[in-house]
Amino acid sequence: MKKAQTERLYDLRKRTHPSQGTFRTLQVFECWVCGGLTNKLHAYSVCPIGYREDTVCPNSGECWHHELEKKLHWLTRSHPKDYKADLEREIDAMRQQCVKKVKNDLVGKPNLKLKKPVTHTFPNNLSDVFKCKHWQEYMDW
Ligand SMILES: [Zn+2]
Ligand SMILES: [Zn+2]
Repeated sequence: MKKAQTERLYDLRKRTHPSQGTFRTLQVFECWVCGGLTNKLHAYSVCPIGYREDTVCPNSGECWHHELEKKLHWLTRSHPKDYKADLEREIDAMRQQCVKKVKNDLVGKPNLKLKKPVTHTFPNNLSDVFKCKHWQEYMDW
């Protein structure tokens, strides 16, 4: 019989979390593209004194997510007013279509009041980045 897993949630404010590896946090990270939530954190030590903490949207590998993010980046450029309004409508429609596809990746009972934005809306590992062709466009976003 499979034992129910109780994974430890690290409170980032206490600074007791590992400086290397993947673990779950009490804090929740929200994606500004799709609204997906995760409490998975990837920590890296980068030689000699660097340190990185990545949080990746659980939907970042999906092409509908890439398309939506592309549109959102495009929206931040300057456009004629009418065009911008059209673009906003298009994004709204896309969001409504995607809402059912958005998956959260939460383990345990994280504190939803401790919310921060994800650091990555696109995959942070190369094998996932190259799954589709969007990375080529992503360079220009
Ligand atoms: Zn997302
Ligand atoms: Zn894609």
